[in-house]
Amino acid sequence: MKMDIPGTHPRYQSLVTREKIAEGIEAGITGEIGLIAHGRGEAFDYLIGEKTTISAYRAETVAAAALLLARHPVISVNGNTAALVPGEIIKLANTTGAGIEVNIFYRTKERHQNILNHLQKHGASKLYTSTDAIIPDLPHNRAIVDSQGIYKADIVLVPLEDGDRCSALKRMGKTIITIDLNPMSRTAKTTDITIVDNLTRAIPNIITIAEELKNKTIIELQQLLKNYNNQQTLKDAIKEIIAHLNNQSA
Ligand code: ATP
Ligand code: MG
Repeated sequence: MKMDIPGTHPRYQSLVTREKIAEGIEAGITGEIGLIAHGRGEAFDYLIGEKTTISAYRAETVAAAALLLARHPVISVNGNTAALVPGEIIKLANTTGAGIEVNIFYRTKERHQNILNHLQKHGASKLYTSTDAIIPDLPHNRAIVDSQGIYKADIVLVPLEDGDRCSALKRMGKTIITIDLNPMSRTAKTTDITIVDNLTRAIPNIITIAEELKNKTIIELQQLLKNYNNQQTLKDAIKEIIAHLNNQSA
């Protein structure tokens, strides 16, 4: 770590996260555009109150159930995710039986390889690395996937997905889970399960919840999915932001 952040700093967690993104850039893992996306995320996190809200926790619970029920779940990893939560992504994959595929928005061979190396260093084993399939109706570079990974998946967890790619994956009939601090983004609106939380909180939460849900029956897990309404989640997320802002100005 370049900067020495005292643990007593009131916004310690946010500063540590910022440092990890900066290190990700230096290591050729995170792209410049990822840095800008991070800034947008930070702004929304401030509005949310830098905590997991009730509606986000509910979405995390349903996401954990969906991953456990999936036939072929895949976690899509981009430059920000790899920089922020590499070990946690691997743990989540192991807990839910999901595969991991590196999928970056602005693709270069080098950055793709850097992320793969980074994940392997953190202990990833089940990685989809082929580039032999194409998501239909998307600009070529962003559409390249592994035929055995994202292409074949029934459920894809895509932290920080872009709106266009999210729609294209939906058109392929997949169930999509995203983690996006902006409840108004196109991604948030297109997805089946939107988790409006910081991925540094969301991924550890989903791991803990998935471990607990493993004791439930398939019917109980299916019931969680059946009772879930993503539009309601997004409405609740906006209400929670408003409530937080009202508290701040009181
Ligand atoms: P869209 O394409 O979905 O309309 P966008 O173009 O604003 O939205 P993208 O760059 O495609 O956004 O995706 C980045 C999204 O990720 C932003 O909405 C940002 O708030 C969110 N984000 C950034 N960092 C984090 C984080 N650590 N945890 C969760 N979400 C984050
Ligand atoms: Mg976008």
